[in-house]
Amino acid sequence: MNLVLSAILNLLLITGQSHSARPAPCTGVKIVNHIVNWGQRKMEHPRKIEAIIIHSSYNALDADSFSVKGILREYKDAGVTPHYIIDRSGTIFRLAPDNNVAYQAGKSRLPDGKTDVNSVSLGIEIVNTMHDSPTKAQYVSLVKLVRCLESKYPVKYVLGHKDIAPGRKTDPWNFDWAKFHSMLEQE
Ligand SMILES: [Zn+2]
Repeated sequence: MNLVLSAILNLLLITGQSHSARPAPCTGVKIVNHIVNWGQRKMEHPRKIEAIIIHSSYNALDADSFSVKGILREYKDAGVTPHYIIDRSGTIFRLAPDNNVAYQAGKSRLPDGKTDVNSVSLGIEIVNTMHDSPTKAQYVSLVKLVRCLESKYPVKYVLGHKDIAPGRKTDPWNFDWAKFHSMLEQE
């Protein structure tokens, strides 16, 4: 085979590979580490993560409803935390390592009947009030994060807090599940 032909074949091979190889699900997911020292417990062994629970939170302590700092103060006072919180601009903060059990689901029940939901789930909070909708940037970040987490763990359910604690919880508020699922299935 002459050199030119060999070079062309190599080029085709490389091009073909770059087209067929999909980016790893966690590529491009930017997470700001901000581990808090409350609302969670460390596990000795890897835990089985079967569910992702989506919540909404806002700051009720002052006029700035979307202040993550204020929300964290509320969590600290209540001794709770999700694993992740996504602010209005779409920035994802990690508040608890995935393998820690974080106190976010409370008294709740998965569709398969499991009631110790915190033990088998990850919690993601969207900064939002009952009168606002999540922003476009928040949906984009949430979809990236969920896709990444689904690639790492045997996730069976992605549910809202109200789905696992009906009558007790109403969040995530004004969350467009159809939009979320269609974005999740894209690419
Ligand atoms: Zn909630």
